[in-house]
Amino acid sequence: MKAQSASALPAIQSAIRAVGSRVTPARVRVLAALQAAPGPQSHADVEETLTRQAHPAVDRVTLYRVLDWLCAAGLAHKATDARGVFRFSAAAPNVEHAGHVHFRCTGCGGVFCLKAPPPAPPKLPRGFRLAAVAFDIRGECPRCVKSHA
Ligand SMILES: [Zn+2]
Ligand SMILES: [Zn+2]
Repeated sequence: MKAQSASALPAIQSAIRAVGSRVTPARVRVLAALQAAPGPQSHADVEETLTRQAHPAVDRVTLYRVLDWLCAAGLAHKATDARGVFRFSAAAPNVEHAGHVHFRCTGCGGVFCLKAPPPAPPKLPRGFRLAAVAFDIRGECPRCVKSHA
């Protein structure tokens, strides 16, 4: 495990503040753990990382809630890996992720920002009101493709 550099923490705190949210120690520690991780992390991976730190443990319910909150806030991405396990990764900071589409790797659970805007939704029949559009692109990242070669 990489040592958590103290200098990363102010950047994490301001990223959380930038989405208009309260900075809590659990949010900062979970996002720091995702940023320092070598690849997409499962709930269990993050739990293990936090347990090894010299801080009070973050309970499982809080951890699940914080991971979901980070995804909803656009600070982390979530995808399932080849075994169907949710994997979380830190989202690139200071990027409006709603402005482009994402590729989710079904091998490692990685999420990749693509330089492509989401397609425009089709014109809806009269009387319909649009609430959300989800554009789902799945496949394998170059590293996972290579691993079967
Ligand atoms: Zn992959
Ligand atoms: Zn993105």
